[in-house]
Amino acid sequence: MSSKKEQPKCPCCGQPRHVSECRTFFDQLRALARHYSGIGSVSRTEVTDMYYAHQGEVRISWACDACLEAGNALIGVPEKQLFCDFSPHFAYFDREKVCRVCKEAFVFDKGEQQHWYEGLGFWVQATRVYCRQCQADKKQRDRISQLLHGFDYQDTDRLKEIVSFYLERKEYDKAKHHLTLGKKHRQRESDEYAWLDGWAAEIKEIVKKETPNP
Ligand SMILES: [Zn+2]
Ligand SMILES: [Zn+2]
Repeated sequence: MSSKKEQPKCPCCGQPRHVSECRTFFDQLRALARHYSGIGSVSRTEVTDMYYAHQGEVRISWACDACLEAGNALIGVPEKQLFCDFSPHFAYFDREKVCRVCKEAFVFDKGEQQHWYEGLGFWVQATRVYCRQCQADKKQRDRISQLLHGFDYQDTDRLKEIVSFYLERKEYDKAKHHLTLGKKHRQRESDEYAWLDGWAAEIKEIVKKETPNP
């Protein structure tokens, strides 16, 4: 190894760190090499080569000893992660992202990353692209399209779910729309539809209360 190599910067704190300040990362590289190559021991040169090779990759996430000790970064366990073409995560630290939908900045925090890659078993290159709000909205949209897919107004359980969905979101017009169609489709002889009138009356009350008097 040439000693002229530029001192690598910790991706977490951005500080140039000497090899002696990255002992944890070295240990991780050594352990990983042993784990995957079946070598009993790995020479210091081999690890150092890996260390510098990793510095050339943009995606690699590791942290200096100081960041790990301060709790600014969480240690990653590559053996628990799914990776092949991408490097595993040697450390997790908060990452700022821009939401694909609302374009607002949000933080993909270190604890969540650890949960994604080591708890849920997501591929290491997966990343959060939506902020919490947009993620929740997307989940709701998926939910309602699932409910409306192939929906038959005779299915009163599902009708209740659909109306409840819109009521929770305070989308009263949509709730009323489905109640009205529900009433149209009701079978006279059935008691199963009795709730339709009750709910319609409740919605009317809510809307009246929430509409400011002119
Ligand atoms: Zn650091
Ligand atoms: Zn967003």
